[in-house]
Amino acid sequence: MNITRNITRRNFIKASGGAAAVVGATGLGVPGLALGASKKVVVVGGGAGGAIVAKYIKAADRDIDVVLIEKNRHYYTCFMSNEVLGGARQLKSLKYGYQGLHNRGVRVVHAEATAVDPRKKTVTAGGETHSYDRLVLSPGIDFRWGAIENYDEKASQVMPHAYKAGEQTALLGRELVNMKDGGVVVMACPANPFRCPPGPYERASQIAAFLKRHKPKSKIVILDAKSKFSKQGLFTQAWKKLYGDMIEWHSAEKGGAVVSVNPKAMTVSTEFDDFKADVANIIPPQHAGRIAHVAGVVDDSGWCPVHYDSFESKIHPGIHVVGDASIASVMPKSGYAANSEAKVCAAAVVSMLRGEKPGAPSYVNTCYSIAAPGYGFSVAAVYRLAADKGAIEKVSGGLTPMDAPDWVLERETLYAYSWYKNIVADMFT
Ligand code: FAD
Repeated sequence: MNITRNITRRNFIKASGGAAAVVGATGLGVPGLALGASKKVVVVGGGAGGAIVAKYIKAADRDIDVVLIEKNRHYYTCFMSNEVLGGARQLKSLKYGYQGLHNRGVRVVHAEATAVDPRKKTVTAGGETHSYDRLVLSPGIDFRWGAIENYDEKASQVMPHAYKAGEQTALLGRELVNMKDGGVVVMACPANPFRCPPGPYERASQIAAFLKRHKPKSKIVILDAKSKFSKQGLFTQAWKKLYGDMIEWHSAEKGGAVVSVNPKAMTVSTEFDDFKADVANIIPPQHAGRIAHVAGVVDDSGWCPVHYDSFESKIHPGIHVVGDASIASVMPKSGYAANSEAKVCAAAVVSMLRGEKPGAPSYVNTCYSIAAPGYGFSVAAVYRLAADKGAIEKVSGGLTPMDAPDWVLERETLYAYSWYKNIVADMFT
């Protein structure tokens, strides 16, 4: 028996005096549930951060009216999307809907939030205005179109970024399938900070796994705007062991930073060279999702400064920002970090609505990378708030050792799958 759902229905029927169900703006065909609620929280973005904030605020206090505004009806996880390119999974295995959150009493509105008025405390989405006591933004990233010359949304239809999962992942996958054996895949990687620091290098590994099987004469050239990258030793070791010299990495020092592209000629250019690509995967520089800019909570860095006990904006009190859009001190922009930040934020929002001070939080992150089927490794860290420094600091952590035996790499892969199962269950059920 689903107790949550039964309580929810009973509360609703009580609150509505037994009247016929009112179908909310959710379009999910089940009643809105927050009648009579005294406080209202609006969450924008139903991804790794926002889904968790909405769920945990509602779980902590059912009297808080929680509205989740998410523009898409389905969410495709970026996590594990590189495996789609490698051929180990299908895109549909990454697709989730919002019925689970709705069942928990979160009012899910499928619309794009287009305006925020921090003074009036309102959000506009799909022509409707939602008032709030506290607003949480977790819009993820947007791309800095034009930061690489000629790379805009149109160019991404030819040279996909595949850095928001879904259609872009499918497009890059098709291009790889259609590429000739002996072709060259050129990848462009941005400078820090950006979404998922190990993501591009796991991707190169997964593409290599696909090419090794189907087009073994091909090559991958990574052009990087950085001089080092996450889990570099482990990736470099895996590439050598698994793929010989198929993957070639050009650091910033060696002129790797991409400055322009030509989607017609299929060239990717650094200051010194033009690289001809059969497939080009351009991961451009990024900044906080657009609505954070509209809300005025972004600083000159393009990201959102926040207080680390609550993820409340340092610019506009009453607005919180979690996930990739926030400047989370030493924490990376990852789904697991977003999950952890979201739980800290949810607890703080509930406290603040009760007139209490947020507690002293700790945070956690693990990033798994799968370089080939059965070949995984990870970096993990636990963090705490260093209130005196106004920062988050690492307490402990670790990395899969170099030269780990096969059974360790195999086990890390199983841990990665288990992590994935748990995090999506946390978000969507
Ligand atoms: P998102 O999860 O992107 O959610 C943002 C949501 O907001 C979206 O659903 C979007 O539709 C919605 N939205 C945006 N603007 C609006 C608006 N105005 N109105 C309404 N809705 C809006 N992380 C890991 O921890 N582990 C991994 O293994 C991992 N692998 C990755 C692999 C790749 C290839 C990539 C690209 C990323 C990976 N990540 C991984 C990173 C992870 O996906 C992100 O860090 C995480 O999704 C960030 O969560 P978020 O809530 O900030 O943004």
